[in-house]
Amino acid sequence: MTTQHPTSTEHASTGAADPRDVDARDVDARDPGPASATTSTASRTAPPARTARPGSAIRSAEVLVTSPDRNFVTLRITTEDGVVGLGDATLNGRELSVVSYLRDHVVPLLVGRDAHRIEDTWQFLYRSAYWRRGPVTMAAIAAVDVALWDIKARYARMPLYQLLGGASRNGIMAYGHASGRDLPELFDSIRRHQDLGFRSIRVQTSVPGIDAVYGVAAQPSSGGRYDYEPAQRAPLPAEEDWDTRAYLRHIPAVFEAVRNEFGPELPLLHDGHHRMTPIQAARLGKDLEPYDLFWLEDCTPAENQEALRLVRQHTTTPLAIGEVFNTVWDYQTVIREQLIDYVRSAVTHTGGISALRRILDFAAQYQIKSGIHGPTDISPVGMAAALHLDLAIHNFGIQEYMQHGARTDEVFRQSFTFTDGFLHPGEQNGLGVVYDDEVADRFEYQPAYLPFNRLKDGTVHDW
Ligand SMILES: [Mg+2]
Repeated sequence: MTTQHPTSTEHASTGAADPRDVDARDVDARDPGPASATTSTASRTAPPARTARPGSAIRSAEVLVTSPDRNFVTLRITTEDGVVGLGDATLNGRELSVVSYLRDHVVPLLVGRDAHRIEDTWQFLYRSAYWRRGPVTMAAIAAVDVALWDIKARYARMPLYQLLGGASRNGIMAYGHASGRDLPELFDSIRRHQDLGFRSIRVQTSVPGIDAVYGVAAQPSSGGRYDYEPAQRAPLPAEEDWDTRAYLRHIPAVFEAVRNEFGPELPLLHDGHHRMTPIQAARLGKDLEPYDLFWLEDCTPAENQEALRLVRQHTTTPLAIGEVFNTVWDYQTVIREQLIDYVRSAVTHTGGISALRRILDFAAQYQIKSGIHGPTDISPVGMAAALHLDLAIHNFGIQEYMQHGARTDEVFRQSFTFTDGFLHPGEQNGLGVVYDDEVADRFEYQPAYLPFNRLKDGTVHDW
């Protein structure tokens, strides 16, 4: 099956140019401005940091909040030429913190800067704040970085992946999220994903004795989608329960049943969601070895990189981690010591395309591949950024893909395609995403939280 997202009316099939795509040759032909004076021997002072070529100076940066199927935060940067770039600043469950960081502290620094100076702007925002790293800071920097790459590619009149080195493959293998409260529901969910075209499947299932388990979606019989949406629109977070021993007893039998039903070839993935101790994770990895997982994800709380040493010593099940990481520093031990096989960072939470590219280049030296985070809290803007990067890098592994709802697709008009299990970012200039203000304004922000866990005795556990 092929899902073709409609192209925007501004990129009509008549070949009419996007009005915001100015001719880069015209821009380049203009007076380069004061920056050129830096080569003059008469000037020994540093060039002004806010120097811009006349047209590519940032005229405005707007922080846009919408909530079609869930909350999304988008940064829209516009140059004096009228070229527009988008960045995804969504931080699931903490959205307004990034809105404030951008509006109150970053936007005033952007206006007047040369939009072409992506690396300089990244370093300026990272180093000048003094307070480095962290999800809020790095989500804000990521939004700026992606918006500036979008702008640069629109000036170049190319799809963004071309500026990253061009395509290294024909399509991007994606995995979908199958789940079920019991085996018949799970099998049905896997078959539905196969019908949608998915050739790789993440498997999550309920555990006997636990009321609500991470990753198990509402089933179609209840009117919901199979795709799992953990963030609940409510003034307080939902409380779930957890029992790691019950989980460890149950999961290997689930994978045995799935392998028996679907055969040895289907790539299967599983997410432990940071709930095990190192020795528990080691046991699960060993127990799952007969079922040949593509990866076991987030088996231990990610902030302790050294925990993966113990897990690694005990199992050959491939390991993936990093969706809560923000910078290359979070990966220092696990990459250098080859403790993982896949980097799970999102473009949107790791400082953008520039920073995730650096992490993946570091990982490539150790034969570690990408597995970029792509749940529904990554907006279509963040998803497009991931796809352009996926297509260009050599050490691509797999791309997570949870399809957004129809209302989200109305707000963010996209050019990417999903055909027979493979994604492609499309051939429009830039990211290939257009933000529809009129539709977006219909959906106001709604407070929403991720759930949390308590053990049977009431102790707060890792969610
Ligand atoms: Mg995960």
